[in-house]
Amino acid sequence: MPIKTIFLDRDGVINQELNYVFKIEDFVFIDGIFEACLNFQKLGYKIIIITNQSGIARGYFTESEYKKLTHWMLTQFKDNNIDILEVFHCPHSLESNCNCRKPRAGMFIEAKDKYDIDMEKSWMIGDKETDIEAANMAKIKNTLLVRSGHKINDLDSNAKYILSSIKQSEQVIIR
Ligand SMILES: [Zn+2]
Repeated sequence: MPIKTIFLDRDGVINQELNYVFKIEDFVFIDGIFEACLNFQKLGYKIIIITNQSGIARGYFTESEYKKLTHWMLTQFKDNNIDILEVFHCPHSLESNCNCRKPRAGMFIEAKDKYDIDMEKSWMIGDKETDIEAANMAKIKNTLLVRSGHKINDLDSNAKYILSSIKQSEQVIIR
């Protein structure tokens, strides 16, 4: 049976937005993230992270530094009884014109095919309009834009919902 999924952007949604986070000491979880994820699990969702990491292509950090941080992050989730199904990342720069970098839908389609995800019952939570664009392109029905990361323009957004942070997600993700 197809699964329903909450897709999460990383920087600005899970951890506080800083330019090109790759060190554990710079990775600060956003208030309420673990409670929100526990709620998603209780509602029967799987959780997948979809993140652009062009700092790799730009040479700000290496793939191996990225992996080390990801491993640490997943351990923190696990310690809070949260299972992240997979973390998909795009290491490319804007100029590379790849299919994975959001606002393109490549990583979402890869996840959908790999895990048989029902996009109609799934959600994308992001802090940038490009997250919403990518989600719409991938036909994810529900989108939530949060104000905990990049500055957003409400009037110009195609997001279904806009809330201050993932902490408030239980107001709209109720089943
Ligand atoms: Zn890419």
